Order: sequence, then structure tokens, then C-alpha cells
Amino acid sequence: MADKPRSPTESGCPDAFQYMHPVMRKNYGAWKYHEHPRPGVLRHVGYSGDEIWTVRVGTQRILDIFTLRKLCDIGDEFADGYIHFTIRSNVEYMVADEAKVEPLIKAIEDAGFIVGGTKNSVTMISHTQGWLHCDIPGTDASGVVKSMMDELIDEFRENNMPNRVHITTSCCQINCGGQGDIAINVQHTKPPKINHDLVSNVCERPSVVARCPVAAIRPAMVNGKPSLEVDEKKCICCGACYPPCPPMQINDAEHTKLAIWVGGNHSNARGKPTFQKLVAAGIPNNPPRWPEANAIVKGILKAYKEGAKDWERINDWIERIGWPRFFEVTNLPFTKYHVDTWRGARNSLNASTHIRF
Ligand code: SF4
Ligand code: SF4
Repeated sequence: MADKPRSPTESGCPDAFQYMHPVMRKNYGAWKYHEHPRPGVLRHVGYSGDEIWTVRVGTQRILDIFTLRKLCDIGDEFADGYIHFTIRSNVEYMVADEAKVEPLIKAIEDAGFIVGGTKNSVTMISHTQGWLHCDIPGTDASGVVKSMMDELIDEFRENNMPNRVHITTSCCQINCGGQGDIAINVQHTKPPKINHDLVSNVCERPSVVARCPVAAIRPAMVNGKPSLEVDEKKCICCGACYPPCPPMQINDAEHTKLAIWVGGNHSNARGKPTFQKLVAAGIPNNPPRWPEANAIVKGILKAYKEGAKDWERINDWIERIGWPRFFEVTNLPFTKYHVDTWRGARNSLNASTHIRF
């Protein structure tokens, strides 16, 4: 046996300093102030007197290798050879010389990309990977994002919103696609349909039973084979049983819908973090351009732009005007489905914004 355990080699992210622009490395933690000379550009000034300009670029989010190479070539030729991605998948280039900013922006725009996403804009929409790597998506979140960013391109390029707007999407109902000012999330509307011939070969039945938040799944023998059954009266159509047991198919073209939630905010800079709330449900999952979901998001953004005070985030604005007024100004119908009557959450869901391990 070895004297000491092998140190892990594949955990954590690599050291970011090796990829950082030298001016950023030198001034790390010692910035005096930053300003915003134009949409999409930030200027940071260090106590050392050093300056650095950051140019932020929007992309189509899922990038092929040719587009990535093009972005890197722009970085090599027009920036200082450094590039990084933000957590919302914006690309950022850094230059230490102001004279390089305009030629860099021209090269980016000539290549078909857009500059913006800073300050009070609608920045890149974050989304999960869906069809690319995950086993449970009910829609193509990257497609929703592309169609929506095409519609909101001017809101990315300009600083017209009362405050920054973060939009998120998800491609299933239970996992990613978290808190955003606006979130477009999958909504299943029917219980899973079980393929009993496959369950005994594919699924670990105890883990599927344990997975259901409302105890709607029971073991059952069907046609002489061990399988499962669902109490459809209890089922809340969450889709949590589908990942550990793909024969419990819950996605389909007709019953998998989209729902829109608003007012989520991780930040506690000016107020408490807030949970997002459902404002529109049963929206058709309608590729390739998702016009119904797009129209609702644009309507919410228009009402927010017209009604919010400067620097109010969407949750602050709704808090001030009240939910009844929100439904009036956005022309969204308020239905019984907006009232949360499910009491099981008290026992089974994490009901605070704190992370527990
Ligand atoms: S939202 Fe759901 S389907 Fe999409 S990547 Fe996350 S877990 Fe997978
Ligand atoms: S969809 Fe959700 S609530 Fe319904 S059976 Fe599956 S895990 Fe349970």
C-alpha cells in the first residue's frame, strides 16, 4: 500500500492566473475604480496607474470549433492574445492600450458578432446543455436562447433597461435554469407513461421510488415482470423519475410546455435574495423560433422598461408596484395555476436561498 493517498488530479478548475491578461494579474485585487465608456466596453484603472479595457461580445452560446477559432484569431490579432468567457457565456477580450479598442470592435462586428451586454442591458441568456450532453431534456434550451437573443439583439447592444436583466432557460423541469430576472423553464403537464417491458432491465426501482417528491410511485408486477406504477392523482408531473428510469417517458411534443418565471435574484447587494415566481404557464414548446414564449418575454421587458425606476431590478419593480399591477401592465392572465397550493414543499424542498450540504 502506498504511504499516502494519491492526490486527486481531475478535481476543481485549473488555475485561472495562468490565462489572465498580465495587467489583470499584476493588479489583481488592487483596482481603484472602473467605468463604462460605451455599451460593451469597461475600463478598469488600478492603484498602480495601469489601465485595461474589456470588450464584451455576444455569441450564439453553443459554439462550433470554427467559430471558436475565429474568436481566438480575433483575440490574437486585435486584442492582446487573451480571451475569456463569462458565466453567462459572453466572450471578453482585454487590451491594455485604448487605441486598440475601436479596431477590436470593428474586427468583432465585421466577423458577425455583437458588442454589448454590459451595465443596464439584457446580457447573454444563460442556458443548460440540453440535447448536447444531458439525458432528460424536454426542449432545446439553446434554440430558445438563440431565437430570443435574435429578438433582443438591440437590448444587448444598448443600455436601455432600468438595470441589468439576466434571463435564464432550462431544458427540463427539475435541475438547471435557476434564478433569473426572467426564466423560461420546461413544464411537463402529464404524468409519465411507463414502458413496462423495459423497466425491469433498465431501472433501479428503489431509487426511482425514492426519487418521487410526493411518493406517487410504487413497485408493481405487470404482466409477470417487476415494474412500477404511478398514482396519477398524486403526481405533480415534475419529471424527476425520468432521469433514473428513461422508460418512464414524460416528454412529448404536445404535453411538454414552457413556463415563464420572474423576479429571481441571487444578489443581496441592495435587498434580500428572492425566489422567482410563476407568471405564465402552458406556453407551447414551439421550435424553431418559439414565438409565443418570445412575445411574453418581450412584453414583460417592455412593461419593465416603461414602468421601473432607474436601477430597479425586475424583482424590485414588482415589489414596488405589486403583483396585481404586474399582471395588468404585462397583459398576462392571472389564473388559479398561479396560486401555490402544494403543501408538500414544506417537508421535501429546500425552502431557503442558503446552500446546504
Ligand atoms: S436543465 Fe435538465 S435537461 Fe437541461 S441540462 Fe439541466 S438537467 Fe439536463
Ligand atoms: S413525474 Fe414527479 S411526481 Fe410524477 S411520478 Fe414522476 S417523480 Fe413522481
